[in-house]
Amino acid sequence: MSQQLSPAPLTPALLTTEADGPGQQALLALEQSASEALAARRPWLLFAPQLEAQFERDATAERVARFRVLGVIALLILNLFNITDRSMLPDIAEQAMTIRLGILSPVMAAALLALYLPGVARWREWILAALVVLASASLIYFFTQSRHPNALQYHTGVILIVMFGNIVIRLRFWFAFATSLLILVLYITGIAQLQHMAPEIKLNSDMVLFSAVAISLVANYQMEYDSRRGYLQTLLQRIEALKLKRSRDELDRQAKSDPLTGLANRRYFDSRLLSEWSRAQREQDTIAIIYLDVDNFKAYNDHYGHQAGDECLIRVAREINASVQRSSDVCARYGGEEFIILLPQTTLASARAVAERVRNAIEAIQLRHDYSDAAKWVTISCGVACCVPRPGDSSGSLIENADHALYAAKSAGRNQVCIHTQQAISAA
Ligand code: GH3
Ligand code: MG
Ligand code: MG
Repeated sequence: MSQQLSPAPLTPALLTTEADGPGQQALLALEQSASEALAARRPWLLFAPQLEAQFERDATAERVARFRVLGVIALLILNLFNITDRSMLPDIAEQAMTIRLGILSPVMAAALLALYLPGVARWREWILAALVVLASASLIYFFTQSRHPNALQYHTGVILIVMFGNIVIRLRFWFAFATSLLILVLYITGIAQLQHMAPEIKLNSDMVLFSAVAISLVANYQMEYDSRRGYLQTLLQRIEALKLKRSRDELDRQAKSDPLTGLANRRYFDSRLLSEWSRAQREQDTIAIIYLDVDNFKAYNDHYGHQAGDECLIRVAREINASVQRSSDVCARYGGEEFIILLPQTTLASARAVAERVRNAIEAIQLRHDYSDAAKWVTISCGVACCVPRPGDSSGSLIENADHALYAAKSAGRNQVCIHTQQAISAA
């Protein structure tokens, strides 16, 4: 994960699954940015660019859903005026209806449908702002075109549209601001053309719309300010929860793993063995174990040093891990240079094949060991045991059997796999 915020939606992922969540650096950067924004109480309703982008991405789903519902309501209300126009503005009622049904409604419906497309949803504020301007402009056009005396009353509808855009749709403040100014200019220009309206009434009408714009913008500002602060608080809480979860997971991982090799540790192995043993007992299924020990490791340590010994163990562990394929298998470091592999639902023949694979893999890296009596490089011996646990059997007996087989492999000259059978120990 890069140090920058990923362009993918952070929050839904951030809050639910860690896998899709941001990297630690990105998370910390986001947290710092959100804390600063919360403390700064900036009045401009804009976060730092990355946080702003995140805020907008996180808001998309909720806003788009709301815009669609409100858009349908607006579309219905707008078309209701087709009925009242017949008495209000009879001279242009036909034309108004054609414009509403032929242009406005299809454009609005198409825009609302387009919001379903993720690429388009990013432009939602622009689209909604454009629709608000379009609806207002149509209304202004109607009352400037009509010669009927009622046209003088028609302009009040613009107030409703401005209120709807700023308070109900709640366009983002700067969109609401720009939209309102544009509508105000169109309105004042339109009103100025009404020849039968007295100048003082024109001025009053302009003042009324101006007041509506001012009042609704104040409300819009307050709502957005509060929603931004709420977002920051929630985001910080969620980041905190994710950090906690991650540190819990890390502690959990550490409690289960061996710090040197990264394989499972003995405690975790024992707990997995217990549960797999019970399952095998219940289902009368096979369960197998491979016990591995590095050959002549004391001599390796003595001649190459403890540090080299540690590195050797890490290489061996890596090969063990790479040779084991099933996700239910457990590879663990069982003691100093002893490893153990749990193979649930595995027959003796398969377990022996796995042990051979591991032994071959370690031999193949040819890690030089001049003081081994088994080869010129580091080798391992393996003891394999397998059983279908009977009622009353304990898992300790399986480990014991594998240990016996390992002892047999050592006695037979090391660098080999021995299996434990009910009758005797035999070389693989
Ligand atoms: P064998 O072939 O019979 O297994 O002989 P061996 O020398 O491997 O067996 P022994 O049990 O005598 O020696 C194991 C050595 O492993 C002793 C100890 O110094 C070393 N050892 C145990 N744990 C670690 C460790 O974490 N790091 C290192 N470097 N050495 C370790
Ligand atoms: Mg040993
Ligand atoms: Mg050894």
